[in-house]
Amino acid sequence: MRKQGRHFLQIPGPTNVPDRILRAMDLPTMDHRSPEFGELGLRVLNGMKTIFKCSGPVFIYPASGTGAWEAALVNTLNPGDHVLMYETGHFSTLWKSMALKIGLQPEFLQGDWRSGADANAIENRLRDDTAHDIKAVCVVHNETSTGAVTPIDQVREAIDAAGHPALLMVDTISSLASIDYRQDEWGVDVTVGGSQKGLMLPPGLSFNAVSDKALAAAKTCASMKAFWSWEDMAGPNATGFFPYTPATNLLYGLAEAIDMLHEEGLENVFARHDRHAEATRRAVQAWGLEILCSEPNHYSSSLTAVRLPEGHDADAFRKAVAENFNMSLGNGLSKLAGRVFRIGHLGDFNDLMLAGTLSGVEMGLELAAVPFERGGVQAALSYLASEARGNAGGQ
Ligand code: PLP
Repeated sequence: MRKQGRHFLQIPGPTNVPDRILRAMDLPTMDHRSPEFGELGLRVLNGMKTIFKCSGPVFIYPASGTGAWEAALVNTLNPGDHVLMYETGHFSTLWKSMALKIGLQPEFLQGDWRSGADANAIENRLRDDTAHDIKAVCVVHNETSTGAVTPIDQVREAIDAAGHPALLMVDTISSLASIDYRQDEWGVDVTVGGSQKGLMLPPGLSFNAVSDKALAAAKTCASMKAFWSWEDMAGPNATGFFPYTPATNLLYGLAEAIDMLHEEGLENVFARHDRHAEATRRAVQAWGLEILCSEPNHYSSSLTAVRLPEGHDADAFRKAVAENFNMSLGNGLSKLAGRVFRIGHLGDFNDLMLAGTLSGVEMGLELAAVPFERGGVQAALSYLASEARGNAGGQ
């Protein structure tokens, strides 16, 4: 049956693609060896440095985020290398499994799937590694399965305090262009990003932002690679080209996305995400439901994962929302399946879209007979209105 109106795509990525980006991509595909393409290539390769806040190169792959995870590992680490990873949830677990599959030796610091990485635990482990066997520390900035953020500046401080030379690699797939991130200032060696979340693009592009230290490691790295090789990319990238056919139309969209983020101002983009996350948490608390992230300092500004009371199936609730209100909410992943649902509030998103999203959740709770208190939407609206009043007063 035809569904009226726009679908509410409130999973934590892929996110809603704004019309302006759709229009930017709706152009004839250009010759990827033409001078015009070189200009576009330089524009996006340099533009992405302003998003990662880095001075080193950014490599752009026509791949999902998983590809950029692999690129980060195979360009810097040697077979058998020991890497320290932190179990924040489903995505850190997948990255660890990948490390194992490609012949690294990941050590997984145990987490509770309810908070970000504990920088003290990382520091203690690194202090014990007096032989400096650990070659890299890998953390997920925003764990999309739980809605918990790891403070990357604290991880940097932990590595420095231990006096350890390991590389620092960070997955920002669901935080880039949504939550404050500073590659150079925080001394990150490789940042992994993806197109389909804060960058407001469809899936299909992913990124490695790379420090000098990581480039130096790449020079002596013996891991098997071909498609992912930074070295093969760097030559053509210098003039805006790629060693193979790039995803041309996605790059048109990327150039537009970078412009849009700077028109709004990155600090304003982060503040908007913070505000929508706070409004969402107020709704969840008013409903009497539990936010999965148990550490308020780690609350995510791009998504909120919500626990349903014992005996209530989060997937049945999501099904009721999808069928009745044409809205997709994120599901619980792996061990959280059926236990939580996730509200995505990132990307091209505004107050009224959040109001609609939370209304769909509140009506869905009622339809699925989940016990809850009414008034969550109202709590969010009151907060958003008070914030708008505050902003108007300041003008
Ligand atoms: N890392 C995080 C934090 C993610 O949220 C995702 C996907 O949602 C991935 C990695 C994997 O990215 P992709 O599905 O684009 O391969």
